[in-house]
Amino acid sequence: MEKTMEKIVALAKARGFVYPGSEIYGGLANTWDYGNLGVELKNNVKKAWWQKFVQESPYNVGVDCAILMNPQTWVASGHLGGFSDPLMDCKECHERFRADKLIEDWADENSYDLGGSVDGWTQEQMKNFIDEKNICCPSCGKHNFTDIRQFNLMFKTTIGATSDENDPNATGWLRPETAQSIFCQYKNILDSSRVKLPFGIAQIGKSFRNEINPRNFTFRSREFEQMEIEYFCRPEDGLRLVDEWLEHRLCFYDEVGVPREHIHILDVPDGERAFYSKKTYDLEYEFPFGIQELEGIAYRTDYDLSCHQKGSGRPLEYFDEETREKFIPHVVEPSAGCDRTILAIICEAYDEEELVDDKGKKDVRTVLRFVPRMAPIKAAIFPLLKKNGEQVRIAREIEKTLQPWMSVFYDETGAVGRRYRRQDEVGTPFCITVDFETLGENDASLKGTVTIRHRDSMKQERVAIEDLLHWLIARVR
Ligand code: ATP
Repeated sequence: MEKTMEKIVALAKARGFVYPGSEIYGGLANTWDYGNLGVELKNNVKKAWWQKFVQESPYNVGVDCAILMNPQTWVASGHLGGFSDPLMDCKECHERFRADKLIEDWADENSYDLGGSVDGWTQEQMKNFIDEKNICCPSCGKHNFTDIRQFNLMFKTTIGATSDENDPNATGWLRPETAQSIFCQYKNILDSSRVKLPFGIAQIGKSFRNEINPRNFTFRSREFEQMEIEYFCRPEDGLRLVDEWLEHRLCFYDEVGVPREHIHILDVPDGERAFYSKKTYDLEYEFPFGIQELEGIAYRTDYDLSCHQKGSGRPLEYFDEETREKFIPHVVEPSAGCDRTILAIICEAYDEEELVDDKGKKDVRTVLRFVPRMAPIKAAIFPLLKKNGEQVRIAREIEKTLQPWMSVFYDETGAVGRRYRRQDEVGTPFCITVDFETLGENDASLKGTVTIRHRDSMKQERVAIEDLLHWLIARVR
């Protein structure tokens, strides 16, 4: 079975996971909306992350900060000066490219070993390489590029009513990461929540980057959601903690259905890390379009808090009551993309199974093998026959009992086999059928039981209606 992005994108749209944004107006390139099932999946991912790293952690607390911040934040953090990508235009067809990605894509296609990432290269090195290798424009095939220039990725906006949209006092930025608001609120959290080192501040929220080449479905978009933790610690603990975080994060991916064996761990070598980082791991996943980053886990030393202390003029030191020391904490940052996690979960879950029926007829079953916790619908409920009033009544009653506990779906149309297939395609782990046995019509001992059909094995078993809620809760939480 070949897992292609075409199949995944088509299924995602057809079944209500992800639609192209503002499609009725011809769309807006590379914007995406989560549909009725997509939003459930997304909520499940965010819930699992929050539960593991906030609810169940004795060390971490959460925040939910504003997207717009005082513009001085971005001066101090270095984003205004340096958060840019190397941009070049094709002079023939006027298409724009990221020079680093052009080189990486060319190297991939030509099995050329770059000896590492292009991240640490200068503009001149990139330009020379593109000329030496005669790398051509992916759109028109010509080799005639402008010089490389730096393009800031932050989205600019105007805050408040002003007659001049370039008024510097009215200029604001949509945050390109959630992390900086955590650093800005670090002191308030310290003062209001009685946390002690080591502790983490976690946040899930939207970020915006004016990407030069958004692509690969939701993988690289201009508006996306991040799940970030800034874990503050003593300087001597940073290197140990970055390894511990790597383990915690791999466990998380395992739990949500991206097995750790499918994650490539890149220990980013010296010279390719940000200058302030003493250690960085990139976690990469084998997407159908190539091995690409899911998350970065970086030991960022005291760089961020020091920048904000300097920029704001406010003391951001930590006072250790036991040792009587005052110092700026160091930080380890696991920074994950929510949309990339979702995409990895869908890619991992997608399967096509060849089946042969009783008459020897071949068929293909499309199934999303989500771990039950991530499945948008936990259980589907069917009356075997929609004309049978008693079956319908019982099925509706089961629906009502389960609804406060999990997302369920009632379906009475079509043959039961077709109903199973529809649920397979959206990854529902269990289908519950109220049939004649439930009514005690064929075998009195089965009265009050239902058929449960398992998505993966397609095996069926009978469970008493009164045990159903607990049976399901044990399997879908
Ligand atoms: P890339 O090299 O792919 O642009 P990055 O190294 O710039 O990513 P970070 O700044 O480390 O990314 O951001 C942390 C995480 O946020 C990434 O690992 C990714 O999961 C997510 N992310 C970043 N940019 C995007 C985007 N344009 N679309 C979707 N998710 C993104």
